Amino acid sequence: MAISEKSMKILWALSGGCCAICRTTLVVPREVELDDHSVIGEMAHIYPQSPGGPRGNAPFTGNGDHHSNLVLLCGNHHKVVDDQENGWPVERMKKLKADHETWVAETLTHRPLRVTVDPSGPDPKKEKFYMINSGAELWNLISDAWSFLPSYSEENQRDEQVEQVLGLLEELKEWMEMSEFIETMTEQRNARKCMDAILKECADNGYILYSRRIRFRTTGGVDPSPMTWWQAEVRAVPFGDFFKLVEEHLKKQENVDGGED
Ligand SMILES: [Zn+2]
Repeated sequence: MAISEKSMKILWALSGGCCAICRTTLVVPREVELDDHSVIGEMAHIYPQSPGGPRGNAPFTGNGDHHSNLVLLCGNHHKVVDDQENGWPVERMKKLKADHETWVAETLTHRPLRVTVDPSGPDPKKEKFYMINSGAELWNLISDAWSFLPSYSEENQRDEQVEQVLGLLEELKEWMEMSEFIETMTEQRNARKCMDAILKECADNGYILYSRRIRFRTTGGVDPSPMTWWQAEVRAVPFGDFFKLVEEHLKKQENVDGGED
């Protein structure tokens, strides 16, 4: 019996077209139009076709040419497993085939995406929040981020103040989503101005914004390499009495500087 076309197709597909040992691609592309591609893959038998073949001591009754009895290898490794049959007994060949075909299946399927904190980034348990002092600062934070985590406190705040600040935080999220399309210097400048306006509106409603950045990483999917990205975390904190103190302080300074009124 010879290896059927169907068995060949199944074996090549399950093996991802590469050697189960060295994972070399088993089709070498042609260099010039006149040539065809070269096939360097070979199908090694786990149990031999005939009792005299490699691994011939193992008892086997069945179709030796079925794809389940074949391992796809490059020419070099085919020679190795058949020459060195004691080093490559049936059980080892079976395991090689199973492991390789599992690896191919896992590599080709979409593996589930997993998001975790990037261990080489800031530690969320230790990283502090810092006060945002300018629209430029806020814009740098927002435009560099791929995700946005807002939070706020309602303590001692009126309902309308809280609602206003929630609206502003939502606006910031929209800016983050749009940021990749904001390219020109004019657009950037405009964005910074809008950030200034947001900060001012927050302040008008008795809030001050604090922020920090945490780096996350995504693994899985078709891309084998992990991808890292920043999450911008913005916390709206009520000024409370602190604001009054600052106001008094500023008034005092104005008087010292000889400011108007
Ligand atoms: Zn190989």
